[in-house]
Amino acid sequence: MTLQPDTFKSLVKVAAEQVIASAGELTALDQAIGDGDHGTNMKRGFEAVLGKLDTISTQPLDEALKTIGKTLVMTVGGASGPLYGSFFLAAGEAMAGKTLPEDLADVFGSGVNAVSARGRSHVGEKTMLDVLVPVLETLKADVGRADLIERVRTTASEAVERTVPMQATKGRASFLGARSIGHVDPGARSSCVLVHAVCSTLEARP
Ligand code: ADP
Ligand code: MG
Repeated sequence: MTLQPDTFKSLVKVAAEQVIASAGELTALDQAIGDGDHGTNMKRGFEAVLGKLDTISTQPLDEALKTIGKTLVMTVGGASGPLYGSFFLAAGEAMAGKTLPEDLADVFGSGVNAVSARGRSHVGEKTMLDVLVPVLETLKADVGRADLIERVRTTASEAVERTVPMQATKGRASFLGARSIGHVDPGARSSCVLVHAVCSTLEARP
Protein backbone atom coordinates (compact mmCIF):
# COMPACT_ATOMS: atom_id res chain seq x y z
CA MET A 1 0.00 0.00 0.00
CA THR A 2 1.49 3.29 -1.07
CA LEU A 3 -0.53 6.42 -0.61
CA GLN A 4 -0.93 8.27 -3.91
CA PRO A 5 -2.00 11.94 -3.76
CA ASP A 6 -5.37 11.17 -5.36
CA THR A 7 -5.93 8.39 -2.82
CA PHE A 8 -5.29 10.83 0.02
CA LYS A 9 -7.77 13.28 -1.54
CA SER A 10 -10.39 10.50 -1.66
CA LEU A 11 -9.63 9.55 1.94
CA VAL A 12 -10.25 13.08 3.16
CA LYS A 13 -13.31 13.55 0.95
CA VAL A 14 -14.99 10.28 1.92
CA ALA A 15 -14.16 10.70 5.61
CA ALA A 16 -15.63 14.22 5.62
CA GLU A 17 -18.73 13.11 3.72
CA GLN A 18 -19.30 10.18 6.08
CA VAL A 19 -19.02 12.41 9.15
CA ILE A 20 -21.43 14.91 7.61
CA ALA A 21 -23.86 12.08 6.75
CA SER A 22 -23.63 10.84 10.37
CA ALA A 23 -24.43 14.21 11.92
CA GLY A 24 -27.97 13.20 12.89
CA GLU A 25 -26.81 10.01 14.57
CA LEU A 26 -23.95 11.79 16.40
CA THR A 27 -26.32 14.47 17.63
CA ALA A 28 -28.80 11.88 18.89
CA LEU A 29 -26.02 10.12 20.81
CA ASP A 30 -24.90 13.43 22.32
CA GLN A 31 -28.50 14.28 23.25
CA ALA A 32 -28.55 11.15 25.42
CA ILE A 33 -25.41 11.86 27.49
CA GLY A 34 -24.25 15.36 26.51
CA ASP A 35 -25.63 18.59 25.11
CA GLY A 36 -26.67 17.39 21.66
CA ASP A 37 -24.15 19.32 19.57
CA HIS A 38 -21.60 16.67 18.52
CA GLY A 39 -23.21 16.11 15.11
CA THR A 40 -23.45 19.80 14.24
CA ASN A 41 -19.93 20.44 15.61
CA MET A 42 -18.42 17.70 13.48
CA LYS A 43 -20.51 18.59 10.41
CA ARG A 44 -19.34 22.22 10.59
CA GLY A 45 -15.71 21.15 10.92
CA PHE A 46 -15.71 18.62 8.11
CA GLU A 47 -17.61 20.93 5.78
CA ALA A 48 -14.74 23.38 6.33
CA VAL A 49 -12.26 20.58 5.56
CA LEU A 50 -14.17 19.80 2.33
CA GLY A 51 -13.96 23.49 1.43
CA LYS A 52 -10.16 23.24 1.62
CA LEU A 53 -9.93 19.89 -0.18
CA ASP A 54 -8.15 21.28 -3.25
CA THR A 55 -5.48 22.95 -1.09
CA ILE A 56 -5.14 19.91 1.18
CA SER A 57 -4.71 17.52 -1.74
CA THR A 58 -1.81 19.50 -3.22
CA GLN A 59 0.13 19.73 0.05
CA PRO A 60 2.73 17.20 1.21
CA LEU A 61 1.12 14.68 3.55
CA ASP A 62 2.53 16.21 6.75
CA GLU A 63 1.33 19.69 5.81
CA ALA A 64 -2.04 18.35 4.65
CA LEU A 65 -2.64 16.66 8.02
CA LYS A 66 -1.73 19.89 9.81
CA THR A 67 -4.11 21.89 7.63
CA ILE A 68 -6.89 19.47 8.56
CA GLY A 69 -5.97 19.82 12.24
CA LYS A 70 -5.94 23.63 12.14
CA THR A 71 -9.25 23.69 10.29
CA LEU A 72 -10.90 21.41 12.85
CA VAL A 73 -9.52 23.44 15.78
CA MET A 74 -10.97 26.60 14.25
CA THR A 75 -14.37 25.25 13.27
CA VAL A 76 -15.58 22.23 15.28
CA GLY A 77 -15.84 23.79 18.74
CA GLY A 78 -16.91 21.91 21.87
CA ALA A 79 -14.51 19.53 23.57
CA SER A 80 -14.10 17.46 20.44
CA GLY A 81 -12.74 20.28 18.21
CA PRO A 82 -9.45 20.84 20.03
CA LEU A 83 -9.11 17.07 20.53
CA TYR A 84 -9.59 16.06 16.88
CA GLY A 85 -7.54 19.12 15.92
CA SER A 86 -4.70 17.95 18.18
CA PHE A 87 -4.89 14.48 16.66
CA PHE A 88 -4.32 15.73 13.10
CA LEU A 89 -1.77 18.41 14.08
CA ALA A 90 0.34 15.86 15.96
CA ALA A 91 -0.04 13.25 13.22
CA GLY A 92 1.15 15.88 10.72
CA GLU A 93 4.16 16.72 12.89
CA ALA A 94 4.98 13.03 13.20
CA MET A 95 4.53 12.42 9.45
CA ALA A 96 7.55 14.52 8.46
CA GLY A 97 10.31 12.20 7.28
CA LYS A 98 8.13 9.08 7.65
CA THR A 99 6.74 6.70 5.05
CA LEU A 100 3.46 4.85 4.80
CA PRO A 101 2.42 2.18 5.46
CA GLU A 102 5.58 1.31 7.46
CA ASP A 103 5.17 4.20 9.89
CA LEU A 104 1.38 4.22 10.04
CA ALA A 105 1.17 3.04 13.65
CA ASP A 106 3.83 5.57 14.66
CA VAL A 107 2.02 8.48 13.01
CA PHE A 108 -1.43 7.41 14.25
CA GLY A 109 0.05 6.86 17.72
CA SER A 110 1.34 10.43 17.82
CA GLY A 111 -2.20 11.62 17.14
CA VAL A 112 -3.62 9.40 19.87
CA ASN A 113 -1.02 10.62 22.39
CA ALA A 114 -1.90 14.21 21.57
CA VAL A 115 -5.61 13.56 22.28
CA SER A 116 -4.71 11.92 25.57
CA ALA A 117 -2.42 14.80 26.57
CA ARG A 118 -4.86 17.51 25.54
CA GLY A 119 -7.87 15.78 27.11
CA ARG A 120 -5.96 14.50 30.16
CA SER A 121 -7.78 11.29 29.38
CA HIS A 122 -7.07 7.61 29.00
CA VAL A 123 -8.73 4.49 27.70
CA GLY A 124 -11.75 3.33 29.72
CA GLU A 125 -13.21 6.81 30.38
CA LYS A 126 -15.91 6.55 27.67
CA THR A 127 -14.42 8.92 25.10
CA MET A 128 -13.09 8.87 21.55
CA LEU A 129 -9.91 7.30 23.01
CA ASP A 130 -11.87 4.10 23.58
CA VAL A 131 -11.91 3.69 19.80
CA LEU A 132 -8.62 5.38 18.89
CA VAL A 133 -6.47 3.35 21.33
CA PRO A 134 -7.79 -0.10 20.27
CA VAL A 135 -7.36 0.89 16.60
CA LEU A 136 -3.76 1.88 17.38
CA GLU A 137 -3.18 -1.49 19.06
CA THR A 138 -4.48 -3.29 15.97
CA LEU A 139 -2.28 -1.15 13.71
CA LYS A 140 0.76 -1.99 15.83
CA ALA A 141 -0.01 -5.71 15.96
CA ASP A 142 -1.26 -6.30 12.45
CA VAL A 143 0.55 -3.86 10.12
CA GLY A 144 1.63 -5.80 7.05
CA ARG A 145 -1.14 -8.39 7.37
CA ALA A 146 -3.28 -8.85 4.28
CA ASP A 147 -6.47 -8.48 6.34
CA LEU A 148 -5.33 -5.34 8.21
CA ILE A 149 -8.18 -3.18 6.91
CA GLU A 150 -10.83 -5.70 7.92
CA ARG A 151 -9.27 -6.07 11.38
CA VAL A 152 -9.15 -2.31 11.88
CA ARG A 153 -12.79 -2.01 10.82
CA THR A 154 -13.90 -4.71 13.25
CA THR A 155 -11.75 -3.29 16.06
CA ALA A 156 -13.42 0.11 15.69
CA SER A 157 -16.98 -1.30 15.61
CA GLU A 158 -16.41 -3.52 18.64
CA ALA A 159 -14.70 -0.67 20.51
CA VAL A 160 -17.73 1.58 20.03
CA GLU A 161 -20.02 -1.08 21.53
CA ARG A 162 -17.68 -1.47 24.52
CA THR A 163 -18.36 2.18 25.46
CA VAL A 164 -22.01 1.31 26.23
CA PRO A 165 -21.45 -0.23 29.70
CA MET A 166 -18.75 2.32 30.60
CA GLN A 167 -19.35 5.20 33.01
CA ALA A 168 -17.97 8.47 31.62
CA THR A 169 -15.29 10.06 33.76
CA LYS A 170 -14.22 12.75 31.26
CA GLY A 171 -16.13 15.34 29.29
CA ARG A 172 -19.71 16.49 29.66
CA ALA A 173 -21.09 12.94 29.99
CA SER A 174 -19.16 12.56 33.27
CA PHE A 175 -21.59 15.06 34.86
CA LEU A 176 -24.24 12.33 34.59
CA GLY A 177 -22.28 9.88 36.74
CA ALA A 178 -23.83 6.41 36.59
CA ARG A 179 -26.56 7.70 34.25
CA SER A 180 -23.96 7.83 31.47
CA ILE A 181 -23.96 4.01 31.53
CA GLY A 182 -26.01 2.29 28.81
CA HIS A 183 -25.23 4.64 25.91
CA VAL A 184 -22.68 4.76 23.09
CA ASP A 185 -20.20 7.62 23.50
CA PRO A 186 -20.71 10.16 20.68
CA GLY A 187 -16.99 10.83 20.17
CA ALA A 188 -16.23 7.11 20.09
CA ARG A 189 -18.84 6.78 17.35
CA SER A 190 -17.45 9.71 15.31
CA SER A 191 -13.95 8.21 15.56
CA CYS A 192 -15.39 4.95 14.27
CA VAL A 193 -17.07 6.75 11.35
CA LEU A 194 -13.72 8.31 10.41
CA VAL A 195 -11.82 5.02 10.72
CA HIS A 196 -14.45 3.14 8.70
CA ALA A 197 -14.37 5.78 5.96
CA VAL A 198 -10.59 5.37 5.65
CA CYS A 199 -10.98 1.57 5.55
CA SER A 200 -13.63 1.68 2.81
CA THR A 201 -11.63 4.09 0.68
CA LEU A 202 -8.43 2.04 0.94
CA GLU A 203 -10.36 -1.11 0.02
CA ALA A 204 -11.83 0.58 -3.02
CA ARG A 205 -8.52 2.21 -4.09
CA PRO A 206 -5.63 0.09 -2.80
P1 ADP B 1 -18.92 18.97 24.09
O1 ADP B 1 -18.81 17.81 25.04
O2 ADP B 1 -18.08 20.14 24.52
O3 ADP B 1 -20.33 19.32 23.80
P2 ADP B 1 -18.78 17.43 21.65
O4 ADP B 1 -20.18 17.09 21.92
O5 ADP B 1 -18.48 17.92 20.27
O6 ADP B 1 -18.22 18.48 22.71
O7 ADP B 1 -17.86 16.15 21.88
C1 ADP B 1 -18.13 15.22 22.90
C2 ADP B 1 -17.15 14.07 22.79
O8 ADP B 1 -15.82 14.51 23.01
C3 ADP B 1 -17.39 12.98 23.82
O9 ADP B 1 -18.36 12.06 23.37
C4 ADP B 1 -16.02 12.35 23.99
O10 ADP B 1 -15.82 11.27 23.09
C5 ADP B 1 -15.07 13.47 23.60
N1 ADP B 1 -14.38 13.99 24.77
C6 ADP B 1 -14.85 14.88 25.67
N2 ADP B 1 -13.92 15.14 26.60
C7 ADP B 1 -12.84 14.37 26.31
C8 ADP B 1 -11.53 14.16 26.88
N3 ADP B 1 -11.15 14.82 27.97
N4 ADP B 1 -10.70 13.29 26.25
C9 ADP B 1 -11.07 12.63 25.15
N5 ADP B 1 -12.27 12.79 24.56
C10 ADP B 1 -13.14 13.63 25.12
MG1 MG C 1 -21.69 17.99 22.97
